[in-house]
Amino acid sequence: MKKITMQTPLVEMDGDEMTRILWTMIKEELLTPYIDLNTEYYDLGLEHRNETDDQVTVDSAKATMKYKVAVKCATITPNAARMTEYDLKEMWKSPNGTIRAMLDGTVFRTPIVVNGIEPCVKNWKKPITIARHAYGDVYRNVEMEIPSAGDVKLVYAPEDGSGEQTLLVHHFDGSGVVQGQHNIDASIKSFAASCFEFALDMKQDLWFATKDTISKKYDHRFKDIFQDLYDNTYKTKFEELGITYFYTLIDDAVARIMKAEGGFIWALKNYDGDVMSDMVSSAFGSLAMMTSVLVSPHGYYEYEAAHGTVQRHYYKHLKGEETSTNSVATIFAWTGALRKRGELDNNQELMDFADKLEKATLETIESGKMTKDLALITSLSNPTVLNSKEFIQAIREKLDTML
Ligand code: NAP
Ligand code: MG
Repeated sequence: MKKITMQTPLVEMDGDEMTRILWTMIKEELLTPYIDLNTEYYDLGLEHRNETDDQVTVDSAKATMKYKVAVKCATITPNAARMTEYDLKEMWKSPNGTIRAMLDGTVFRTPIVVNGIEPCVKNWKKPITIARHAYGDVYRNVEMEIPSAGDVKLVYAPEDGSGEQTLLVHHFDGSGVVQGQHNIDASIKSFAASCFEFALDMKQDLWFATKDTISKKYDHRFKDIFQDLYDNTYKTKFEELGITYFYTLIDDAVARIMKAEGGFIWALKNYDGDVMSDMVSSAFGSLAMMTSVLVSPHGYYEYEAAHGTVQRHYYKHLKGEETSTNSVATIFAWTGALRKRGELDNNQELMDFADKLEKATLETIESGKMTKDLALITSLSNPTVLNSKEFIQAIREKLDTML
């Protein structure tokens, strides 16, 4: 078979620990035998980040702005223990944080649904994608402990010296606590634009929910910004595709989600998204079966697995012990990036390959061959537990029958 060619490179961001091992296996077994892989390679492994004073992370984000599509392996976010382990010059920031700040994007997390791994919510048949706003609110709050009776006020002092505004938050009769939160229109607009763009991309309905009945100015601002952008820029495009934008109160959304079939995108404010994404991912089965894509309103896409570097398995691997690490989310990061590359370059062959690789992966699991984490939760009887390498090879065998 002639290898598929790629006109434009995609940005490849290599990473750390067990996922770095899987990365090489996936390329060797599932990609390079079939594709003349055209990537611009950036090594985001912690050692190389340290050598380059983290410049490599910045460079990889710039390359993503140039080529529009990136695929990223999980990376270590350094903490005190990693400082010693890797003899780091500095506690480098999270690569994901750096990349997200540069691309100005929103992260969409989607569970990979497969027969044999049933969601706890029995009517969920299709994936529910969570879009979490990644700026402000309680994550950028200021808090104060109030020791005794007194007034707490909110004061806005305009830079141009025009009239100050003051609001009494509360008159305390005794001790208590107080919190100040903020958000900015530019960030909310960019979040909304990413959500609408992603819905068009996925051809799925978009839900958005806040508590605007209680928060008549703060949450209401989110609702208004989404609605204005929808009415002015996206309504026609949504109608052409036959998808809908649906706003509802967060309580109502939660109740409806439990009764829904899935197959839509749920956009949430920062805190709601933090909480709901953990609920949805655990209800769908496993973090190892969750993909994640960073979508920027400027049209950049960065695909990755939602899980980390699976450190515990890596240490076993280093000791020469066998591992059974699930590569599905990392494979889907690659297929997501390859499909998007194909779409942007009009490369049908590449898009078809991405579809087939996903199908081969799911059919391998459905045939009972899986890694240990899935064997523990599957509804299939007598699953065959494969090690990290064997599982990828089983996918290759299945793929070969499809090509
Ligand atoms: P983790 O790598 O997601 O792993 C936590 C546990 O979840 C594993 O020990 C394993 O459980 C299970 N697991 C996760 N992915 C799996 C897979 N593909 N196959 C099988 N089991 C899987 O989280 P962590 O151990 O908290 O973090 C390790 C490193 O990853 C940290 O340095 C952190 O900074 C980094 N991290 C990176 C990203 C990213 O780059 N996007 C995200 C999160 C964390 P068992 O041990 O029980 O088998
Ligand atoms: Mg959380």
